[in-house]
Amino acid sequence: MPTNGVKKNGRRSISHSSLRFTDVEVAPNSYRKIRLIGKGDVGKVYLVEKKSNGKLYAMKVLSKAEMIKRHKIKRVLAEQEILATSNHPFIVTLYHSFQSEEYLYFIMEFCSGGEFFRALQSLETKCLKEKDARFYAAEVIAAMEYLHLMGFIYRDLKPENILLHDTGHIMLTDFDLSKPSTEPGVPTIVKNTPFLFQNYSTPTIDTKSCTANLRTNSFVGTEEYIAPEVITGMGHTSAVDWWTLGILLYEMLYGTTPFKGENRNMTFCNIIRNEVTFPNYPQVSPSCKSLIRKLLIKDERKRLGSRAGASDVKAHPFFKGINWALLRHEKTPPIVPRYNAADPFDTSNFRPIEDSIELDLEKEGRAFVALQQRERGGGHETLGPRSGRGLYPSPSASTMSQASSAKKDKRSANPFRDFESGKLALPSHASAHH
Ligand code: ATP
Ligand code: MG
Repeated sequence: MPTNGVKKNGRRSISHSSLRFTDVEVAPNSYRKIRLIGKGDVGKVYLVEKKSNGKLYAMKVLSKAEMIKRHKIKRVLAEQEILATSNHPFIVTLYHSFQSEEYLYFIMEFCSGGEFFRALQSLETKCLKEKDARFYAAEVIAAMEYLHLMGFIYRDLKPENILLHDTGHIMLTDFDLSKPSTEPGVPTIVKNTPFLFQNYSTPTIDTKSCTANLRTNSFVGTEEYIAPEVITGMGHTSAVDWWTLGILLYEMLYGTTPFKGENRNMTFCNIIRNEVTFPNYPQVSPSCKSLIRKLLIKDERKRLGSRAGASDVKAHPFFKGINWALLRHEKTPPIVPRYNAADPFDTSNFRPIEDSIELDLEKEGRAFVALQQRERGGGHETLGPRSGRGLYPSPSASTMSQASSAKKDKRSANPFRDFESGKLALPSHASAHH
């Protein structure tokens, strides 16, 4: 049985990120809608079945009109760019992206375990044991390291944006707040390793330098996870991702975030003023508390990760003994999602959601074909933003160097560059990634 999508009623055993499709033509009606599984600020995510092979995917659908109205074009373009260029076992795989008259579509790997947040909430204590929290923190660090190396800042780490693959490993999703740097920097080797890092046997790679060109001022993130420098509007760097890791680790261990106030303002005051404190129960080791304290240093220049990025964090004694290269090989993650084997389309790991719009993929498919025919007949005209054609073809991203050089090419020839101004000129085919 082919294994690139989820087997309908079985477990998948390998990561799919390395698989690649080329010249695959898909349209909205290549898929059958099964049910709505997620609803975000702007997007709706459906479980769909590909008609040609019966495999399951997650289809994220975004209304173009809504995105224009709410000034979210840049964000969706950034999300598409990041997902299309990324190829990592802990980052959700994007297989295709295309558009119709009204919608943009992302066809992604279906993470059948649902949101990590929901899995945490379903635990009796709503907290994880330290060794289990270490497992998830390590996988998040591996994903962050990769993103920083690619020149991206994630900016929106929180349990809701971590999905569980059916094996129980994590997959980061939701990149609409992420920030691509104009030009990723080059990783370097850190010299003069100070005493703290001497237990790190391999050379320390500096991934901080990859996002060195990137300082951003926009006020984004989730209230309780926002870093102090974002609140004070000082502009922020990839160090925000290490702050959010500190909050995530705290929430996994204690079931609450450290600076939560009665309202948004109180939370922000606490983030800026208060030092992190730890409840007596559950008991947490000194090395874990030391890591959280270092990740939650208010001054981003002194925060753990500010010297060399992920290498600093990985070298902390809390992670002693972790085999970073083989994280994905762990056979028994702390939470392995449960399934109803009798239901091939089981979505019991997702909260039930009522679908309010009637998205008809057959009708969308006809509109997609009509547009393509019109384009072929009518030459390469410039279209308004409601006109539908394929999103831009993404480069394959089988290696990091390939991916980053492809990213450079794509940046200089981004067919979406006119989207905001309403002069959209796009190639006419749906694009396949990986
Ligand atoms: P937000 O308001 O958080 O920005 P959004 O509109 O960008 O939301 P996402 O956060 O990407 O949408 O997705 C919304 C929800 O859909 C997720 O929280 C998750 O429950 C579900 N979801 C998204 N992608 C997948 C996937 N690949 N597999 C399974 N479920 C998914
Ligand atoms: Mg989002």
